[in-house]
Amino acid sequence: MKTDHAKIHLNIGGYEIIPLPTGLFGLDGGAMFGTVPKALWEKTNPADEHNRIPMEARALLLKSKDKKVLIDCGNGADFIAKYGDKLGSKFAELYSVDGSGPTLKSSLAAHGLTANDITDVVLTHLHFDHAGGATSAIGDVIKPTFPNAKYYVQSENLKTAQTPNVREKASYLSPNWVPLLEAGVLQLVNGATKNLLPHISVWVSDGHTTAHQVVIVEDDTQKLIYCGDVIPTASHIRAAWVMGYDLHPLKVIEEKTALLKSTQEKNTYLFFEHDPYCDVATVETDKSDFKVKERFWLA
Ligand SMILES: [Zn+2]
Repeated sequence: MKTDHAKIHLNIGGYEIIPLPTGLFGLDGGAMFGTVPKALWEKTNPADEHNRIPMEARALLLKSKDKKVLIDCGNGADFIAKYGDKLGSKFAELYSVDGSGPTLKSSLAAHGLTANDITDVVLTHLHFDHAGGATSAIGDVIKPTFPNAKYYVQSENLKTAQTPNVREKASYLSPNWVPLLEAGVLQLVNGATKNLLPHISVWVSDGHTTAHQVVIVEDDTQKLIYCGDVIPTASHIRAAWVMGYDLHPLKVIEEKTALLKSTQEKNTYLFFEHDPYCDVATVETDKSDFKVKERFWLA
């Protein structure tokens, strides 16, 4: 896979746009691409001997004079302390979590920041690979990782996490959000919200899971869309390339198409949480579908 993309520096709505890699992990390639045949997806996303493809868990830091906003938190690093010996060790093995690379904390430190500096954390949804880093084990106690931050999640997503269906049960792990509720730092958001924070809006999608929020940072000339699991990698820009994990694949296609249409209005970049081969991309139309125009690394 080609990775020598151009570097681009983005500043939108007064925020510096900073990717924070939190560590690679692996998911089944077939599950990541649903009905797309392996002969097609393995060209862009080669698999290991267990058919797993590498996935990034890329958080986003929006840094302004007044605010340090974090979007999603990756898997977290302390599975055994948080989920217990049995589930914790199985977890690291099953998802081939690579502990040798950057973590959320080391990525923040690379920008001169600590967990204390974060003012706000917007969670797209509470699946473990997005909310795992939201809490940390300190001895026997699990606490919010960012002690001075308000956390934001859709109220309907919290409800579904608290009473998950059989299919999603293994992804909604309570140590990732119960400590946020106990500490009184979780702000519940009801539906699409303009300017949740200055220049930061959320848009709700129900195809991947109930009430997943896509985060949009915007000013007069530019826009960045943090796609979360609606478009997890650049390969998923194609309409029919949806995950087997999605609860409602046809709904994802509909929502993704609306989101991709909106990229043609102004200078727009899609930010990919799970793509190990680029940070962001621009998009162009391709007959009735969309395709990548250019991939970039953020500088
Ligand atoms: Zn998810």
